[in-house]
Parts: sequence; C-alpha cells; structure tokens
Amino acid sequence: MEKKFRIFATCDIGSDAVDLLRARGYDVEVYPQPEAPPKKLIVEKVTSGIDGLITTLRDPIDAEIFEAGKNTLKVVAQDAVGFDNINRADANRYKIPFTHTPDVLTEATAEFAFFMMGVLARKMWPAEQLLRDNRWGYWHPYLPFLGDEVTGKTIAVIGTGRIGLALIKKCAGFDMNILCYDPAYENHNYINAIQEEMSLRHGRGISREKNWIKYVPFEDSLRHADFVSIHVPLLRPGESPTPTYHLFNERTLRMMKPTAFLINDSRGPVVDEVALVKALRENWIAGAALDVYEKEPLPPDSPLRDPAIVDRCRLYPHFASAARITRLSTDPNKGMAGRCIQGLIDVLESNYGGDITKMPYVVNKEVFAKS
Ligand code: NAD
Repeated sequence: MEKKFRIFATCDIGSDAVDLLRARGYDVEVYPQPEAPPKKLIVEKVTSGIDGLITTLRDPIDAEIFEAGKNTLKVVAQDAVGFDNINRADANRYKIPFTHTPDVLTEATAEFAFFMMGVLARKMWPAEQLLRDNRWGYWHPYLPFLGDEVTGKTIAVIGTGRIGLALIKKCAGFDMNILCYDPAYENHNYINAIQEEMSLRHGRGISREKNWIKYVPFEDSLRHADFVSIHVPLLRPGESPTPTYHLFNERTLRMMKPTAFLINDSRGPVVDEVALVKALRENWIAGAALDVYEKEPLPPDSPLRDPAIVDRCRLYPHFASAARITRLSTDPNKGMAGRCIQGLIDVLESNYGGDITKMPYVVNKEVFAKS
C-alpha cells in the first residue's frame, strides 16, 4: 500500500477489528477509556490530520469536527446503524462521507425488543424480586400478582424498516396479530408473506387462531394494540416531513389502551419521558420497557427511576445490539465492527472504482452523486 492511513477511534470497537486495520498497514489510535472522549480531544485528533475517524452514537459530529478535518479527513465510520449524532447537513457541506452499520444488528435489536416485551408483560422482574426477597410464601392462582400473555395479543410495530420487519417475523412465531405503521416505507410483499405464513400455520393446525397483519394509520395502531414497539430513527423537526422526536407524548400516549405496554429500543428522544412517567404514574398505560433515553447514561435523578412505578417500568442500558457476534465479529456480514471497518476501508482504499455512491455503507451518498 502506498499510503499509511491514520485513524482515530473514539472507542475500542474490538481488538480483532483494530488488528485487521493494523495488518493492512493502518496507523490506528484507540481512545482507551470506556467513556466517550471529550469533543475537544476529537477536534484535536482531527486537526492533527487523521484520514479516518471511527465514531459511535455518543460522539457529537458536526461542523466543528468537519472544519477541523477540512482537506484531510476522508471518512467518518460510525459503529452503529443510527447516526443522529452526526450532522448530515454539515457532513454534506464539507463533502465528507460517513458510513454506518445497518443489517448486522437487526436481529439482535429486534429480539431484544421482543425479550423486553416478555419480561415486562410477564412481570419477570418483580417475580424474581419476590423470590430473592424471601416473599414467596405460597403458590396461589392469582396472588400476589399476574402477568399478561404475549401469545395471541396484538402488537403495533411503529417503523417497518429493517428492525421493525425482523420483530414482525418473531411476533408471527408467537401467534400475535400485528398492526404496522410507517409513513415512508410500507413493505407489502413482506407483510403479505407473513400473512401467508400465519394462514398456513392455522391451516396446518400449528396455530389455534388465524392471526392477521396489516398496515394502519398511526392512531389506529395505538388505539388497538396490546403492545406498541418503536423502531424508528430519531428525526428532529426539520429533518423529515414526519419527524419522530417526541412522537410519543401526552397526546399519543393517551391514545393507547390502559392495558397496553410500550417498548422502545430505538432512540430515547422519540419518547417524551416526562409524559411517559406521568402515563405510568397515572396508569394511562400498563407499563413500559426502555433501552434508550433522552439523556444517556440515564441520570441518577431521572423520574423513570421512581420506586412507585418500578413494577411496570423496565430499564436497560442501551443494550439491544450488545450481543457478542453482533458487536464484535469482523465479518462485515455478521458484525458491527466488521461492517464499520469495511465502510472505512471502502472509502479510504477507493473500492467500487472510488465511486462513493456505490459504497453500500455510506449514508450521505446524495452529496457525491454527479448532477
Ligand atoms: P430503518 O431505517 O431500516 O427503519 C426505520 C423505519 O422507520 C423506516 O422504514 C422509516 O420509514 C420509518 N420511519 C421514519 N419516520 C417514521 C415515523 N414518523 N413514524 C413511523 N416510522 C417512521 O432503520 P433500522 O435499521 O430498522 O433501525 C431503526 C433505529 O433503531 C435506528 O435508527 C437506531 O436509532 C435504532 N437502533 C437502536 C439500537 C439499540 O441498541 N437500542 C440498535 C440498533 C438500532
């Protein structure tokens, strides 16, 4: 290789991936702490003339960073599918491509949403607490409490992109009925195939009831679902005709059934947490399971930690994609680390004939399209 590319990674994406880059002759510096580096340090590293910056969802990447890398920074490679921390307009103004890691975390994130739903609805956490606190004094048909089944219930999947569709597939296996909502992308082929699968399962005696799946307007999905699971990107007002910031607020939470549960492993600011806490305290809904928050890590004084709602509020530390192969595999078809470095390599080594619009993991292709 003629040029030795210099890379700064704001976090360790796994030693195997870093070693792969080093084996190609890259000079890679990895920020050693588990916490995010201060922005000042990222600016410093970019100013020093690095060719590539590996980032995660906790790094604010905006005009200040791109200005520091003007003429030197060639690519930002994000180790996540969501890229709401990267200012796309700023990247485009400086004509710097950024990449992300779609697909490889789809199944892990979808199954985590499913598991959160089960833990919440079947009250697995208060049930284990009961035992651990030595309060399990008897077997009784309904005391001290009961959970709610998932099987046979109706789920609303909000956002039928990669993760939403993967969740749909899993819910079909649990004999659930499915309401789908997505203002920008309706995949009717997929939904029809799931309906065929549901009909076959019923026809062959595998499922007792004949389950159904359909696209409906947002408000209908909220009004009729027993579970509502969110799978949208964070889109702030002005970024989309259908922004998702505070999509779940007092007005929309009040549309849900009082027996319904909310699941969110997309992005925290999609849910107005003040409204959600009110909904849980005042029993507008039956419960919520969250993996993501308006502010991360979740502040110690967050009202979501209120002991009064602990039985119906499950909280996880932005953990949905945190599975071994998903996070660390260097195979770009299996792991985020692999897909992250492949996106970086594609740009730096001018793969695809150097045509950025053909590189699969580049997000902001629009700015490189020849007019
Ligand atoms: P995707 O782009 O394939 O799907 C998102 C879907 O949301 C699209 O179909 C889009 O049309 C739809 N959408 C946009 N605006 C909407 C609106 N107002 N209402 C309903 N739907 C709307 O993305 P994906 O790969 O499925 O990932 C979804 C999001 O999940 C990511 O953007 C990321 O923020 C989040 N995520 C979180 C974790 C985690 O660890 N918790 C892991 C992976 C992804």
